[in-house]
Amino acid sequence: MKPKDVVIIGGGISGLTAAYQLVKRGREHGGRFRVRVLEAESETGGQARAFNVNGFIVEHGSHVFFNYYRTILGMIDELRADDDANPTSKMPGLSRVPGWTICDPYGRRVTLKQSPNLPVVLATLPSMLQIPWLTYWERIRLAWAAFKLMETPFSEYKELDKQSSFELGTGLGYSDVGAMTWNAASLGLTNLFVQEQSGALFAGKHRLLINQPDGLAYQLPAGDLSELFARPMTRKLERLGVQITLNALVKSIDREVPAKRTRIDFTTPEGAESIEADHVILASSPWVAKTLVPWVTAPWTELQPVSPVITVVLRLSGKVKQSADDRELGCSREHWSFSVVTDLSQFWPDFAGDKTVIRCEVGHADMLAGGVDADKDALVAEIKRDLDRLFPEVVGMTVEKAELHREGKHLYTKWSKGQFSKKPEDRDVGKGVFLAGDWTSKGTIGMEAAANSGFEAANHVLAAEKLPLAEYQDVPLI
Ligand SMILES: Cc1cc2nc3c(=O)[nH]c(=O)nc-3n(C[C@H](O)[C@H](O)[C@H](O)COP(=O)(O)OP(=O)(O)OC[C@H]3O[C@@H](n4cnc5c(N)ncnc54)[C@H](O)[C@@H]3O)c2cc1C
Repeated sequence: MKPKDVVIIGGGISGLTAAYQLVKRGREHGGRFRVRVLEAESETGGQARAFNVNGFIVEHGSHVFFNYYRTILGMIDELRADDDANPTSKMPGLSRVPGWTICDPYGRRVTLKQSPNLPVVLATLPSMLQIPWLTYWERIRLAWAAFKLMETPFSEYKELDKQSSFELGTGLGYSDVGAMTWNAASLGLTNLFVQEQSGALFAGKHRLLINQPDGLAYQLPAGDLSELFARPMTRKLERLGVQITLNALVKSIDREVPAKRTRIDFTTPEGAESIEADHVILASSPWVAKTLVPWVTAPWTELQPVSPVITVVLRLSGKVKQSADDRELGCSREHWSFSVVTDLSQFWPDFAGDKTVIRCEVGHADMLAGGVDADKDALVAEIKRDLDRLFPEVVGMTVEKAELHREGKHLYTKWSKGQFSKKPEDRDVGKGVFLAGDWTSKGTIGMEAAANSGFEAANHVLAAEKLPLAEYQDVPLI
């Protein structure tokens, strides 16, 4: 049988996952697909990528694996075991962190952990009852409201999305400081935008954190994120015969009736090209996708990105002992210059030694005086002042080296109040095009959701070609 042509637009986690699942299943049935990935940038990986800035690896912020779905972690295991994908055995490890550490505006910290000897639904309770800056009454209210929220079925999320996290939390019985605290915990590593963030996202995170055996544990890449997934997967795909074209910016997609194939127009530095496909998987952000499927009118076409991010990696002149158990801290964007700080020297072999190397994700560059173009020296000075506040021993240290990466383009979708319910109901948008990307998946966002959306997209094509579907673990939110 003549192989079917599948064109995947976007080489982020979702596009690469879809390509891998399709080519793998297609080969099991006699090479049923010819898969081509078109990626606008000079590298694959999209948002889940790292950059070498003057010898320092600087990511797009911090990237953690929440452990909720095995899809991406399973593929990472496969890549690690494959000598072609991982030829030098240099894929970074994953460092397990057994709890969320959050901090209040004054720098007081608490690590929320699961108690191993309690049933899953109760395992987070002891931690919740010990948050030092809440009164005893606030802790009880926090626990009670958190459990009520955890019980909310996914079918009610559209309704929850009409409220912000703050409105939902306080309406359910949280104190205001309790709502903000649990928001920091439930978002874990993100800035505290509780006033705007969707109540549905808040509820989803509760279910995942409270109701999963490993809900309050996560994994951090112990090195260059690009080497953990995008590059090894790209090598593997190329070996499996997938054509990956970099610097290929897709300009339009169309299928004229009665033609049975979809035409994709793109440009590369060599000029304009046009190709045809039986199936197209559009694995880009919603704000790009809407320009490529202009025939669609759906609420998702209004989705917008979050504010720009600047990631700063700095080496201090000494070792910060206080951060030993606090490898990663989620901070409020109202009160700190950074939204996440990660002590890379705790678990990155490359940064080990007697100097602390800290990564700061400034997840709200819109709130800085100079925005995403803020002056580097001023920004580093501001971060140093806040590190002094967070870790008193840093006061006597100097910043020996600081490198930064500014990101105003590859950003996650903003799930503020009223936006979560704009997730696409139907990802088959006609003309042979199927939507993928973390934002299209049913539950929360992130790398695991992106991988799930890649499985879903591959299954859409496999179903159309009457082939057995790829098995994967769906979001446990239903
Ligand atoms: C600062 C930051 C921190 C994050 N932290 C975490 C975290 O801790 N944990 C977590 O799980 N997730 C985190 N995420 C989210 C995670 O990175 C994303 O969910 C995931 O990488 C999205 O993958 P994707 O394939 O859906 O989309 P993307 O990575 O956005 O990939 C889309 C791809 O499409 C390409 N493209 C766009 N337009 C075109 C076009 N016209 N033609 C061709 N190609 C095109 C883009 O170049 C890109 O490569 C974070 C994201 C950021 C930015």
